[in-house]
Amino acid sequence: MIEVKNVTKKYGNFIAVNNISFNIEKGEIVGLLGPNGAGKSTTMNIITGFIEQTEGEIVVGGYNILKNPKKAKKQIGYMPEGVPLYNELTVKEFINYMADLKQVAKKEKKEKIQKVIEQTHLQNVQNKLIKNLSRGYKQRVSMAGALVGDPEILILDEPTVGLDPKQITEIRNLIKELGKTHTIIISSHILSEISQICNKVIIINSGKIIAQDTPKKLEEKVKKQNQLSVTIEDKETKVEEITKQIQGIQEMKLVKDNEDGTKEYIITADENQDIRKEIFEKYAKSGITIFELKKNEATLEDAFINLIGEKQEEEEKN
Ligand code: ADP
Ligand code: MG
Repeated sequence: MIEVKNVTKKYGNFIAVNNISFNIEKGEIVGLLGPNGAGKSTTMNIITGFIEQTEGEIVVGGYNILKNPKKAKKQIGYMPEGVPLYNELTVKEFINYMADLKQVAKKEKKEKIQKVIEQTHLQNVQNKLIKNLSRGYKQRVSMAGALVGDPEILILDEPTVGLDPKQITEIRNLIKELGKTHTIIISSHILSEISQICNKVIIINSGKIIAQDTPKKLEEKVKKQNQLSVTIEDKETKVEEITKQIQGIQEMKLVKDNEDGTKEYIITADENQDIRKEIFEKYAKSGITIFELKKNEATLEDAFINLIGEKQEEEEKN
């Protein structure tokens, strides 16, 4: 349904998106996950034909977005980052405007506009000016604009940013519902947002894809890791040296440097090896006080943070 082939986007010398490739099949709900500045919006803007890539190719439903922009774009409903800027229009006027952009046939227009107004629960505010609406309503107006004209593909850029928990649940349920009949790409910098709705996750950082898989498979990969979290008081910071003397230790990473003088580390060890006893004994002998020692039940969130952390360390080294 969507093919992204070796796409790169440069702003001057800066590479915002760096040679990314992925395919999205019909009916999939795909999460584009990455921290701020990762390149999510740029990628979405390229797929929707909003901006042009520097290199590579995008094919949407068989049509190249640059060579056949009209046919490619007709299949896509796009909800850009932030809220709609058409403050002086009413909700209905805005949706009408979007319907015109998508060349919805005149005789179907009225009916189609009413349909998306119902879908997004905007009946009560349809004649209000957009500027007078709350953030949650504005977000839904933007969603309605994406939906009008029945596009098969929906591209939603951080659709829940700035919403309160109740509004988040509402939008999430709406996306789930739409997922039954659409192909969806949704971006977020929050993992839980994505893992609940999507059947595929593409993790992106510094313009590059660092992982793509189902949430389940990504989680399984992390679960295999044998990790401990240890919080200690170490006045001489010799703990890393001491820990690395234990057999089977792969890595030790400082994750929190607390104000009370304690430090939290994540220790990764070989699979199937319980190193808790050895750590306890060795630290005791060396005068390092353990405040907490626990086996890490790694979550997808940890995997995400780890992946992104590793990437940044690599870059700092280069
Ligand atoms: P995300 O949506 O993941 O937060 P973006 O795609 O918005 O990330 O941005 C990726 C990178 O490209 C950022 O470092 C951003 O500052 C940069 N960038 C985005 N748009 C422009 C632009 N028009 N000119 C220069 N740099 C840009
Ligand atoms: Mg963005």
